[in-house]
Order: sequence, then C-alpha cells, then structure tokens
Amino acid sequence: MSASDAADPAHSNPPASHVAPTHQPAFVTPRTYLEGARPMAPPTPILSALDREQMEGLRAIRAFLKVRTSYDVLPLSYRLIILDTSLLVKKSLNILNQNGIVSAPLWDSQSSTFAGLLTTSDYINVIQYYWQNPDALARVDQFRLDSLRDIEKAIGVAPIETVSIHPDRPLYEACRKMLSSRARRIPLVDIDDETRRHMVVSVITQYRILKFVAVNVKDTQRLRKPLRDLPNVGTYSNLATAHMDTPVMDVIHMLVKKNISSVPILDKDGTVINVFEAVDVIAIIKGGVYDDLALSVGEALLKRSDDFPGIYTCSIYDQLATIYDTIRKSRVHRFVVIDEQSKLKGVLTLSDILNYTLLEGEENEY
Ligand code: ATP
Repeated sequence: MSASDAADPAHSNPPASHVAPTHQPAFVTPRTYLEGARPMAPPTPILSALDREQMEGLRAIRAFLKVRTSYDVLPLSYRLIILDTSLLVKKSLNILNQNGIVSAPLWDSQSSTFAGLLTTSDYINVIQYYWQNPDALARVDQFRLDSLRDIEKAIGVAPIETVSIHPDRPLYEACRKMLSSRARRIPLVDIDDETRRHMVVSVITQYRILKFVAVNVKDTQRLRKPLRDLPNVGTYSNLATAHMDTPVMDVIHMLVKKNISSVPILDKDGTVINVFEAVDVIAIIKGGVYDDLALSVGEALLKRSDDFPGIYTCSIYDQLATIYDTIRKSRVHRFVVIDEQSKLKGVLTLSDILNYTLLEGEENEY
C-alpha cells in the first residue's frame, strides 16, 4: 500500500460484509420522520496531511499573487516591440522571426489606440483563409495587420476578446482575467500622464507569471501530491496526436478545432518523439511561402530554429513541486506526460497549472 493509500479515508471503510448495529427507534413519530427527510449538509471532506500541506502551499501562492502587481513581474530593463496595424502581415512575420518573439501588441496610429495583440492564432487564421481560397495568394500577400479581423470573419472564427489590465492591479487579478478569457498572455495598459492616451507597458504571459511564482514562493515545495492523485490537472483523454508523416495542415486544423497550442508527435508504437507547437507555424510561413503548407510534420519541424529548447516530459508520479522547479530552471511551455516506456499518457500545460494553482478548492477558501 502506498503512503497516499494509507491516508485515504476510503481505505478505512468497513468491508462490504460488515453489518452495522441498528439504532432505529421502535416506531417513527411524524416529527422525527420529517427531521430525517431534511436535506443533509454535505459531509466535510476528510483531508490527509498531504492534502492539507498541498492546500497550504496553494494558499501561500495565492496570497503572494494578491500582494504583487504585474509591474513586479517585469524585469528592470526590457524591450517591447509594438507593430503598427498598417504593416503587411508578411513583414510582421519577418519582424517576429528576426527578434525571436511570437507575439506583439498592435497599435492603430490613425486613432492612436491600442489595437489588441498579434499572436500565432492570427497567422493560423491567415493560413486557413489561404487554404480555403488557394487562388487568393496575391491578396493574401497584400494583407495588412488591420485586415486580420476581416479574415477571422471570412473563415468564421470567433474574434478573440482582447483583455488587458493596468500594471498596478494585483497579479492575482491578471491571472483570473487570463483564465476566464483563456488568453495565454495579457497586455499591461496604462494611461499616459501627459496625453491621457492608452500606453502599452508590456505583455505578461502565463510562463512569466509561473516563473515569477517558482522563483519567489518557496511554498511551491509544499505541492507534494503526485499528478496521479490530481486527475483534473492536465488532460489525459481524447488527446490530439499526430505522426511525423501527418500533413502539417491536418495538425493545424487540430490546433484550431481543439483550441490547443501543441500536438504530441508519436511513432507507430505510440512513443512520444516530438511535439508540434502552434509557434512552429511561424517558421513554416516566414517570408510568405504558403506552398510549404503541403509539408509533413517531420519536414515542418526541420524548420525550427537551432535554439529550440526541446520538449519537456514528466510522469504521473511527479509532483507539482517538481514541475514548479523545472519552470524555475527552464524555459518550459508544457509537459508531455509519459510512462516508463515513453508512451503518451497526457499533456500538462501552463494554463492547467495556473488554473489549479488559482482555483483548486477555492470555494472552501472564504
Ligand atoms: P500555451 O501552451 O499556448 O501557453 P495553454 O497553457 O492554454 O497555452 P493549450 O495547449 O492551449 O495550453 O491547452 C489548453 C487545454 O487543452 C489544456 O487543458 C490542455 O491540457 C489541453 N490540451 C493541450 N494539448 C492537448 C492535446 N494535444 N490534446 C488534447 N488536449 C490538449
């Protein structure tokens, strides 16, 4: 029996054959009958020491996020690349590639307003548009960033709500906004003192927030329950997967259909050999070469830049403490959950971790 089995109250139940002594009164008066029918309060769950420790760890992280602001996450010095909405889409691709970034805030210089975020989803929309209208290459080539909303409409995808937050607001609020809108990054928007106009200060991502937590909150070490005992953290069924010879367009459709950012690539025995990520589409269409969409996944992955950090795996026996440790040390965006034979078991993404860290047991908090 494992340590967690020993702590599990379910294991201390009497065997099924056990007959409890009856303490029923000889007959039931109307009053006691009604009392018996009253709905019972749900039983308070009995927590093991490991559960309590885990909850304490989560509370400490949440308390930290409530007293820190988004400003605190920003490094002392950083650069911010903002793109004008009149820029050609193909030029924006070059700029992202040259600067090693995968998203940028947009600025409408006509109205001097912040115009949302450019992300890999926008490029995937352009690809889908081209796929549906292969004769429109000349038009696709002339798309500007301000036509991205029209492309969304043309291919029938719901526009992504751009949430933003003031940098002075608590980080906890930024996280909650990201979770409720399913945004993976949130722009920090302030008001310029002189012009009274909006000013984009920076963009923070789930990764930056989780790294900030991992570096600063030692209580992450209290999250010692293994993933095996946290079945709601991560996805373990209906996984979208592909093989090296799957057409890359099929994988792009999977990303859109399931609203996910990565697809594990398996060999014919189900062993994980790589992961295709939404950001990989940028390398495929850089320079506006849409012919490359006929590539297989394997060919597309060869276009990755040399500084690709690799994929991260974990097992169902890993604890979130270890997961936070890895986030502290490495630039990790997701974990592929595998078994001893490297066969796929699940996917654990940053939003899964953030979601659990903020929301687990929250209804019992106040
Ligand atoms: P990002 O990775 O861009 O930071 P994210 O953390 O939200 O974003 P997603 O890949 O969009 O990660 O995952 C959204 C949800 O879908 C998560 O609950 C995740 O477990 C699940 N998921 C991710 N990849 C797959 C997949 N290949 N098959 C099935 N479900 C997946």
